[in-house]
Amino acid sequence: MNAHVQGCAAGAGIATTPIRRETGQREVFCGLTGIVWLHRKIQDAFFLVVGSRTCAHLIQSAAGVMIFAEPRFATAIMEEKDLAGLTDANDELDRIVTQLIARRPDIRLLFLVGSCPSEVIKLDLSRAALRLSQKFSPAVRILNYSGSGIETTFTQGEDACLASLVPTVPPGGTGEDRLLIVGSLADVVEDQFVRLFDALGIGGVQFLPPRNSTALPAVGPNTKFLLAQPFLADTARALEDRGAKRLAAPFPLGVEGTTAWLCAAADAFGVDPVLFETVTHPYRSRAERALMRYRDRLAGRRIFLFPDSQLEIPLARFLSRELSMQLVEVGTPYLHREHLAEELKLLPAGVALTEGQDVDLQLDRCRSARPDLVVCGLGIANPLEAEGLTTKWSIELVFTPIQGYEQAADLAELFARPLVRRAKLVA
Ligand code: SF4
Repeated sequence: MNAHVQGCAAGAGIATTPIRRETGQREVFCGLTGIVWLHRKIQDAFFLVVGSRTCAHLIQSAAGVMIFAEPRFATAIMEEKDLAGLTDANDELDRIVTQLIARRPDIRLLFLVGSCPSEVIKLDLSRAALRLSQKFSPAVRILNYSGSGIETTFTQGEDACLASLVPTVPPGGTGEDRLLIVGSLADVVEDQFVRLFDALGIGGVQFLPPRNSTALPAVGPNTKFLLAQPFLADTARALEDRGAKRLAAPFPLGVEGTTAWLCAAADAFGVDPVLFETVTHPYRSRAERALMRYRDRLAGRRIFLFPDSQLEIPLARFLSRELSMQLVEVGTPYLHREHLAEELKLLPAGVALTEGQDVDLQLDRCRSARPDLVVCGLGIANPLEAEGLTTKWSIELVFTPIQGYEQAADLAELFARPLVRRAKLVA
């Protein structure tokens, strides 16, 4: 990245800071959770989990109030006899899919989503997807991925889903470069970014996932992509295998992250620095003014981030640099050193970073540090609240539009709110 504008991030660099690695018990949701936001994003897709009653309960409770009349996800529940190999699970699956497609002619893309039970009995969903695709193509495309809880964390469901889409996207040409934004964003955020890219003269921006399966982006050597989410290792690799080139950048959280992210695209597409400044300045100033209110409340507050969503490192960078919060410990389930390199450079020197988890040890460290705010999964939040600590559910950060200039203050508010609530309880 060149020195485009004063807004472009330039970090001192902590890439050499030692990172604690833990491989103990973990407290995270599984990859099925991603269905909750993905089914709203790709509007003609359906997610059929091949799993147990537990899987069905997880999706129902994670989706909670978001379920509307005809949700575009369901669980094909494997019964005891399937698990014991007493029935042919493939026949059963074909029957359910046939029924589903007959009942829901709006479905154009069907994901068969693997789970722990389907993996235990080694049900080959890739073969099932191929077999069913032959039957229902071209009306319905059928793909598969795994959302199983074994060795995954909940945002990896999106990675697996998007990676399964990559082989089906049309080939990109070798002509003019095109920008691809990778990772689910709320439609409102996507629209804001399209306006910004248009103003910068970068037209024809494509998105993965698209809002509709008929609008899959073309990908090839002329594709330059920006990751909008930090948990897309497999998807990025699949895109690179197609010849696409990743643009290194921090993630678009906060004013600084958004500017640096846009700046990476501006550099790659030869945008005039003066134009970049002219276009982004009003957005930056407005967002910085909106953030000031929260900085007053959050500055100096001590925060502990448990590893959960994989958003932890970009969030920690935003909280420390733009809101002057103190980072007690920053945990992440996985640390992709290449994708997070631009973020790591921006973290304060000496920050305590943990990759993986040994939940009991980490809880001990958290209790003894008594931070002002803890960001963690639902399973940990309730006991910590009962012990008088203030918590924020990390899953909310994935469900809420938080990227871009216009959401910077909303993101800050998500951290200020639990502190205000706690203050009221204490008063
Ligand atoms: S996929 Fe595994 S971890 Fe997730 S709900 Fe089903 S059984 Fe539980």
